[in-house]
Amino acid sequence: MIQYENLQKTNANFYDAYKNAFEQVLKSGWFILGNEVNNFETAFAAYNNVKHCIGVANGLDALTLALHACNFEKGSQVIVPSNTYIATILSIVQNGLQPVLIEPLLSTYNIDVSLIEAAITPKTKAIMPVHLYGKMCQMDTIMEIANKYQLVVIEDAAQAHGASLKGIKAGAFGHMAGFSFYPTKNLGALADAGAVTTNSNVYNAALRRLRNYGSEVKYFNEVVGYNSRLDEMQAAFLQIKLKALDSINQHKKNLAKLYFENLKSDFILPVIEPDYDDVFHIFSIRHQQRDKLRSFLTQKNISTEIHYPLPPNKQKAMNGIVDHCNTPVADLIHATTLSLPISYGHTQDDVLKVIETLNSF
Ligand SMILES: *Cc1c(COP(=O)(O)O)cnc(C)c1O
Repeated sequence: MIQYENLQKTNANFYDAYKNAFEQVLKSGWFILGNEVNNFETAFAAYNNVKHCIGVANGLDALTLALHACNFEKGSQVIVPSNTYIATILSIVQNGLQPVLIEPLLSTYNIDVSLIEAAITPKTKAIMPVHLYGKMCQMDTIMEIANKYQLVVIEDAAQAHGASLKGIKAGAFGHMAGFSFYPTKNLGALADAGAVTTNSNVYNAALRRLRNYGSEVKYFNEVVGYNSRLDEMQAAFLQIKLKALDSINQHKKNLAKLYFENLKSDFILPVIEPDYDDVFHIFSIRHQQRDKLRSFLTQKNISTEIHYPLPPNKQKAMNGIVDHCNTPVADLIHATTLSLPISYGHTQDDVLKVIETLNSF
């Protein structure tokens, strides 16, 4: 049996280090916003070459608080790709803002930058590019457009820890970026966790207030805030995992290489482009008979995932919130995409077995 993901295996290398960290935090008697959080924030900001990192409770909160820090007028529009995970859209909706869906490129699955300018109206305030599957968006073009129209850019980097474009990391292009450390992410914690990165002192201060009840000085509240704090235990685990992030990403790149070199041409593979360093959070292939292919693999004891089966604008929760606009590219991706096993817990032999099975379909 080859599982899509086995978090016990993914974390096995860190078992002893985690046990030590657990004991240290337990003995310290300090569990929320302390030294471990500060140290992780410093380390993750340095890793991404940005000035500030603000630890929060999860990836959705990272995006929600980042948008909140902008204080846009209710009803303002935010540009977002039509094939993103629902969290990006929810962060917009939770702020009383209006998501404007832009189709992705069928080649990269990331937002089609050539469609952005035509979607900008006087109500447009921000762009939220999503580095889907671990591949960066065309950030230089996006930043040019944003500067021209004075828009704020908030990257959704939840799937792209360590990915880069021309040597610049995900999270270092936009005015802010949201990261998730959900356990399956390339930099995964052992529970929910997230962070915002930014080079702006103003956003940094605003985010530190927002995550902690709108308060800077204990029991004095300046703004209506949230309780969205990163805890010491997860921050300690994340410092351990962060030191291994480059080797985790390299492991996934090596597995991706096996897929690229050995899969037969029936499958549409991710694109590889110069200047883009992809970290393969997900290895997505496409096939016209996706569902049949998936059942075939299941019968052969190989489990896969679909990221995602239904686009956000077709979700029941979005009735009356997001237009049922035409999104043929997103629809096609959702109907044909299949995510193959590619985790830190998988061996080259696992992936060779997946390849052999796929090639017999
Ligand atoms: C995982 C993910 C999120 C949300 O992160 P959580 O920590 O689960 O809240 C947001 N956007 C994308 C693209 C994601 O993959």
